[in-house]
Amino acid sequence: MFISQSNKLFSLKPLVFKILVVVLLSITINREPCATPTRRSLLETMLFEGNLSFNNMEHASRDFGNRYHLMPLAVLYPKSASNIAHIIKHVFEQGLSSDLTVAARGHGHSLEGQALAPGGVVVDMESYKSPAMTFHTAGKHPYVDVSAGELWINILHESVKRGLTPKSWTDYLHLTVGGTLSNAGISGQAFRHGPQINNVYRLRVVTGRGDVVSCSDEENADLFNAVLGGLGQFGIMTEARIALEPAPTKVKWMRALYSDFTTFTNDQERLISSGKGLDYLEGFVVINRSGLLNNWRLSSFNPKDAAQAQEFRSEGRILFCLELAMYFNKEDVEAVRFCGPLPFPTCPRAHTRRFVMQEVDSLLAELSYIRSTLFVSEVPYVDFLDRVHVSEMKLRENQLWDVPHPWLNLLVPRSSIHGFAHQVFNNIVKDTSNGPVLIYPLNKSRWRNGTSLVTPEEEVFYLVAFLSSAVPSSTGRDGLDAIVARNRRIVEFVGGSNLGIKQYLPHYSTTHEWRAHFGSKWEVFLRRKMLYDPLAILAPGQRIFPKPNFKNTSKSILTRLHT
Ligand code: FAD
Repeated sequence: MFISQSNKLFSLKPLVFKILVVVLLSITINREPCATPTRRSLLETMLFEGNLSFNNMEHASRDFGNRYHLMPLAVLYPKSASNIAHIIKHVFEQGLSSDLTVAARGHGHSLEGQALAPGGVVVDMESYKSPAMTFHTAGKHPYVDVSAGELWINILHESVKRGLTPKSWTDYLHLTVGGTLSNAGISGQAFRHGPQINNVYRLRVVTGRGDVVSCSDEENADLFNAVLGGLGQFGIMTEARIALEPAPTKVKWMRALYSDFTTFTNDQERLISSGKGLDYLEGFVVINRSGLLNNWRLSSFNPKDAAQAQEFRSEGRILFCLELAMYFNKEDVEAVRFCGPLPFPTCPRAHTRRFVMQEVDSLLAELSYIRSTLFVSEVPYVDFLDRVHVSEMKLRENQLWDVPHPWLNLLVPRSSIHGFAHQVFNNIVKDTSNGPVLIYPLNKSRWRNGTSLVTPEEEVFYLVAFLSSAVPSSTGRDGLDAIVARNRRIVEFVGGSNLGIKQYLPHYSTTHEWRAHFGSKWEVFLRRKMLYDPLAILAPGQRIFPKPNFKNTSKSILTRLHT
């Protein structure tokens, strides 16, 4: 099959590769356009077994960002990977004469319409439950096989029943495997385990040619790397094999404030490089907020020193909150679960956990946070991971969940973080009451090379996430227009500053911007597109290869490759 040859193709000399791409493009572009039936009749004439619906598509026309409302032509509720393959192949066989597109939709929690397919087919991955979750617990490296439409929260619940857990998470777990692996999947565990795309052993993918392909580091590695962080551009993941480790039962969760940014980032960086026993590290910025510590108290955090904490006033200041967590097992007997049948004294992990408990205290002693602001909480592991869901429930009660979410996520190199913070936190962001602004460092050496994900070049870079919710119909600072304008100012500053900053969950509207985003990775991204989705059928909502323009794009690529 063509795809299984793709690795070999990529290892060919560039000239041979160019010739192959040229031939391939010539075949697709010069294909005789067939009589152009309407998009709908084209689908209706398909011999098709899955459930393809032309009605009740409202949910597939929106996402969590709640700013785009673009109707698909149809929604596919697949019963098998071959259902998905069938429809993509059908569209592929129309060649460039058809402008039908296909988008996988996970939980639809994109922010900028990335999972939408205006006038195309949305594949409802969340309804796709094949294979049933299958755990492989024997051996040193346990894993679970799941449908790529599975929600991470369900994987968590099933895994802990077996004393196991995935290693790397997002802050919110009501997202699908395919949705987060298309980006990266970053949270406070990434400094130890890398993002979620580092913790997947194998995928099954339907490419933009309608081929069903298994891929991993050993088999079709180029496709595997392309799809990870690939923004849905190269294939629809149907199955994933996720790495697991022994699950703890409890989490010690700590927060402490800093008023000096350099002290804050020095401590964060020290912690991720020493890695001493910590399981999670994040942080956030607090600008112009009052009653912060009272809010912590209400959400089960207790001050280490209640009297001192009473004295602390946050009003008006820019503060930086360090957030740490350490996993452990409450009872020694539970520690045995880490080692299965091994008796406790010989279980290295149990020793590690005990050691860590003491070590965190000594580690906290080395940090330079404002002493009166250390707050500690102890919660079950599952509650810790599912913590954002608690906020979701509260916001839903107040009709504040399904509002517009003009989010902006940036990856800022270490060398730029001070310049960035100075400009943005002092001059652009006036308060953080519209939603959290996260800021924490990540270490590139923990991230796999070769994926489609773009990060800054430096070893340490920061995730800075502006996670705002707009108050519907407000024309003030908490309204959509004001927040979008604020984000635009940040993006303009980033664009003009040459600070080497990259967007995470990127969103651009022109090819020029996408090229700049990918930088030196653009050529590889383009070649992979030509190999795996040469007619730009997949994930049109990312707006990287708009289909109506793609014929011209392809022609210009042809011209460039010829010269
Ligand atoms: P969708 O929005 O449905 O799809 C996203 C993209 O992936 C689309 O382009 C779609 O076509 C494609 N896609 C979906 N499924 C597949 C598949 N099976 N195969 C190929 N392509 C596919 N991200 C983080 O990294 N860390 C966080 O901590 C974090 N927290 C978040 C908290 C909230 C409340 C929200 C709403 C989002 C958060 N995100 C976070 C962002 C989130 O990871 C992405 O938006 C993710 O894409 C959402 O997953 P989804 O299942 O809803 O995907």
